[in-house]
Amino acid sequence: MIKLDSLDTSAADVVVIGGGPAGATTAALIAEAGYSVVVFERESIPRFHVGESLIPATYWTLDRLGLVEKLKASGFPKKFSVQFVTESGKETSPFYFDEFKPHESSQTWQVWRDDFDRMLIECAEQRGAEVVCEAQVTEVVFDADQVTGVQVRPAGDQEGDSRFVSAQVVVDASGLSAFLASRMDLKEADPLLRKATVWGYFRGAARDAGRDEGATIILQTEGKRSWFWYIPLPDDMVSVGCTGNLRYMFPGGGVDLEALWSREMARCPAMQRRLADAKREGPLRTTRDFSYKATTAAGDGWVLVGDAVGFIDPVYSSGVYLALKSGEMAADAVVNGLATGDVSGERLGAWKESYDEGVMHFHKLVYAFYTPGFSFGALLRDHPECTEHLANILMGNVFEPGVGALFEAIGDVTPPSEDEPSMVPMAEEEEN
Ligand SMILES: Cc1cc2nc3c(=O)[nH]c(=O)nc-3n(C[C@H](O)[C@H](O)[C@H](O)COP(=O)(O)OP(=O)(O)OC[C@H]3O[C@@H](n4cnc5c(N)ncnc54)[C@H](O)[C@@H]3O)c2cc1C
Repeated sequence: MIKLDSLDTSAADVVVIGGGPAGATTAALIAEAGYSVVVFERESIPRFHVGESLIPATYWTLDRLGLVEKLKASGFPKKFSVQFVTESGKETSPFYFDEFKPHESSQTWQVWRDDFDRMLIECAEQRGAEVVCEAQVTEVVFDADQVTGVQVRPAGDQEGDSRFVSAQVVVDASGLSAFLASRMDLKEADPLLRKATVWGYFRGAARDAGRDEGATIILQTEGKRSWFWYIPLPDDMVSVGCTGNLRYMFPGGGVDLEALWSREMARCPAMQRRLADAKREGPLRTTRDFSYKATTAAGDGWVLVGDAVGFIDPVYSSGVYLALKSGEMAADAVVNGLATGDVSGERLGAWKESYDEGVMHFHKLVYAFYTPGFSFGALLRDHPECTEHLANILMGNVFEPGVGALFEAIGDVTPPSEDEPSMVPMAEEEEN
């Protein structure tokens, strides 16, 4: 990895904005195909990032990148299941992924993102991509509608020399900052998913035993106004976060994170028990209003991947999977475009329609989660034949034929908008 002043080229086949999971995946696969790739990452690497829980479907892209053995050899906790805890504290039966798919891909990991993301970007480097850190892309340059390259300068240095690097294709993998989508006004927020999250890292929390030790636990708070995640990490650390409607979390827009945390923790005795002997390390952190999608994923000489093309919600830990998957699909489209001399938007975005179908399954399940009265327990009692479809979506197998049948059983689910008197007490989730 180099700094911008050591970059000795001003032209590449492909420039990637952002060295997170989406950018690293796209860069690795395009470089592997023999094209020159430069990744610009504004942070130094490793860098902190939220989003520690992987889902099983990440296995297939990680396998293509040759990273599965590295993950097996890592100290990351193994995740075999996800478990939901109802607002009254009832622990529902965990979804053990291998009960539905007996394959090694059904075990995944809980990761520190700085280490995991570094593994990915080093993979891109090993496959031939040039990775430039602390380098901020400030402009994507167009000639009419065709991208010709980017302007980039040392991050945090307004006075630093800005350089032009030409490219046949620019991949925007800039995460939630959605560099191109913001500038091109392509961002479409989801008004029914206006959420805010507060989270922190704790040492010494209670852990379950055996194969449950690495499980993600999703805990509803009393009244279901918010929910907590519990993600066990290495070295006796746990990531704990709380998500709810933006206006509920921050009424009046004010942000007293400690008060908010205490308020929500008081509504979740099951989480209190897990954290009784734990000590927080570091500050509470927050992020908000993250759900959106870009209305278009590609144009002539540019394509969006990962969070830059859309982000749904943290509840099912789908983000890193979708970053890897969209990175992989876009990389194949870019390689195809470069090989045929056609880098039109149509060619670079050819993957988007089938990608959207998979994303829609996560999206509908997120809507179900936030819909008053909806209960997975009741759904599975009435429709036991849907258990496998639900498990498939929780594992990330959203591109499997047939998973959409789940939503025929669920019917129409629409969470209340923030303007409605939302979050009225909901039907009790029943044990499954
Ligand atoms: C509260 C919350 C909890 C989450 N929990 C989970 C979870 O448990 N599991 C999960 O799978 N996902 C989770 N996610 C989502 C997950 O973190 C993201 O989906 C994932 O990081 C997306 O990867 P990416 O590569 O698209 O973007 P990022 O990982 O955000 O990477 C983008 C990179 O681009 C760089 N960049 C941005 N602009 C520029 C620029 N102009 N020039 C150069 N570099 C730039 C940034 O510095 C960054 O490193 C969560 C998200 C939120 C908000």
